Amino acid sequence: MAEPNRGTTSPVSSPPHRSLFWWVVFLALIIWNIWSFLPRPTALALPYSVFVAQLTAGNVARVNIVGDQLTGALVHPMAPPEAPAGEAKRPQPSTTTAVSTATFSTFRTTFPSVVGDPSLMPLFAAHHVIVDVETPSAPWFMLFLSNGLPVVLMLLLIVWMGRQAASSQAGLFGFGRTRARRYTEDRPKITFADVAGVDEAKADLTEVVDFLRNPRKYQEIGARIPRGVLLVGPPGTGKTLLARAIAGEAGVPFFSISGSEFVEMFVGVGASRVRDLFVQAKAAEPAIVFIDELDAVGRRRGAGVGTVNDEREQTLNQLLVEMDGFDVRQQVIVLSATNRPDVLDPALLRHGRFDREVVVPLPDWRGRVGILRIHTGHLHLAADVDLERLARTATGLSGADLANLCNEAVLWTARHNRTEVTMQDFDHAWDKIVLGAERTTALTPRDRRVLACHEGGHAVVAWLTPAADPVRKVTIVPHGRTLGVTEQLPTEERYNMSRGDLVARLDVMLAGRESEALVLGDVTTGAENDLIHVTRLARRMITRWGMGSLGPVAFEANDEQPFLGYQLAQGRDYSDATAARIDQEVQRLVAERQAAARQLLIAARAKLDSLAEALLADETVTDEQLVGILGSRPTVNPAAAL
Ligand code: ADP
Ligand code: MG
Ligand code: ZN
Repeated sequence: MAEPNRGTTSPVSSPPHRSLFWWVVFLALIIWNIWSFLPRPTALALPYSVFVAQLTAGNVARVNIVGDQLTGALVHPMAPPEAPAGEAKRPQPSTTTAVSTATFSTFRTTFPSVVGDPSLMPLFAAHHVIVDVETPSAPWFMLFLSNGLPVVLMLLLIVWMGRQAASSQAGLFGFGRTRARRYTEDRPKITFADVAGVDEAKADLTEVVDFLRNPRKYQEIGARIPRGVLLVGPPGTGKTLLARAIAGEAGVPFFSISGSEFVEMFVGVGASRVRDLFVQAKAAEPAIVFIDELDAVGRRRGAGVGTVNDEREQTLNQLLVEMDGFDVRQQVIVLSATNRPDVLDPALLRHGRFDREVVVPLPDWRGRVGILRIHTGHLHLAADVDLERLARTATGLSGADLANLCNEAVLWTARHNRTEVTMQDFDHAWDKIVLGAERTTALTPRDRRVLACHEGGHAVVAWLTPAADPVRKVTIVPHGRTLGVTEQLPTEERYNMSRGDLVARLDVMLAGRESEALVLGDVTTGAENDLIHVTRLARRMITRWGMGSLGPVAFEANDEQPFLGYQLAQGRDYSDATAARIDQEVQRLVAERQAAARQLLIAARAKLDSLAEALLADETVTDEQLVGILGSRPTVNPAAAL
């Protein structure tokens, strides 16, 4: 395989300077063509009779005969013939008074080859004129250059344009070429050291880096490395940065393109761009292909109408084809980033495609300190700058927000002609970014308190309810549209759940809101998602699984709101009276579980308060820390687990 031209930034397949050369040649020929048609002002055009008169007068030094064309040099330069001998009888137009005073030492004339002139040669001999005769073969060549060449050039141009169009598969002039930018060694290298606060994601990605560094090691033992890795996380958390860091760590070419660049202007372009991108990457392997904002091209197919969707579907299909077409030995890894994994086409996430998902969450305060350190590393900081204090108050800010914060602080410093960045500058930047017009997910102190209380409630009930899934982590760092998260990890894969399990779920989900009510004396909108899930689960328990007082009856209805366009048919097999009873039963079940959750929280109020405090201080509390705060978990009640 040909060695790719490492170290260049331009992936364009035909170098631009080569076509430039041809343009210059083309232009030069055109100019020469025009020039050759311009009359030569240096030779005086003489009527044949005047020429003979000059010859007889002994004023001709030499002649050059090419066919019937005579050119030559005069002995004494002469002016253009005004009233030459032999034409004196012709009436002179009055306008010729203004005669050029220029004189000429060379002339040309045309020999009357039709009649011939046998007296000419004796005249040449008599006046000792040097005669030079050429066969008229040169003009054939000149004629071709001046007349034939433009035609040939035009033909070549047309052929060239046609080939360009054909090679790019779409449109004129290569619109279908990939816009992928190739970052290689010559750029400032980004490594994992430039990315902070995403340690779990980095750990997940070290395997990919290791594979790219020495692929042979993996190939020899026959290991299958994931082809596609999907980075998922809210905007500005460093997904793009992380992808470039992987390339930097592994020291391989990095082809980057944004999903939205695939979908542009012309139909069919996106698909050919995908093809082109992969051709380039395979030629440069080991390499990374990075598709940023995958959701722009990878949206669920079949939803919506119109050409834009057709175009996107073609692009997506091509992407799937390329990813499936990988040889096992191919050392190309496709990275991708999105903040909307929920809208992606399921086909993209299938085995062999983007089957590995790496979550890039918003950073917690330790991560934020790290990010602030990175972005202030090159600055001159005053002694009073307390990055940790800054980081602790910045709950909810992303890496990009923090980078922006640092930059605003420096700008403010520079505007006041200082070189040292002070805490005041940071405070000013904070006001501008967090409290100003720019909307971020930054939490106010009140938000943090509500969240700590809410998540604490979920966690305490989950901890103290034996049938609930174990709590792995509690955090008040915002996650997507839901704010905090209480992560529960099912111990084993559940195919079948008992009523006890489901009731425990209801308790845990309701506990967030109950905790707010209990501790703060009021409820907030933060429980919206919880309530949606609670209602849905309770309804299913009653209508599908016969777990209410209506008996073991399944009431068929599409109680889940289907995705628009997928299941439009709605219908139910029971009466309105039954529907009313179901609604009552759902409410009764939820109210019962609400009371139970509340009871549990009241009993464990001290634990709840200390967990909330821990969350406020540390933002994230893991299961090991939970043991310290809440005591060890009660053992599973065998009756409830059944
Ligand atoms: P995303 O692709 O997730 O939307 P980016 O990678 O484009 O976010 O991040 C934008 C900028 O924010 C980066 O160039 C970097 O300066 C800064 N940034 C974001 N996350 C981090 C991080 N974890 N560590 C350091 N800098 C970060
Ligand atoms: Mg990005
Ligand atoms: Zn909640």
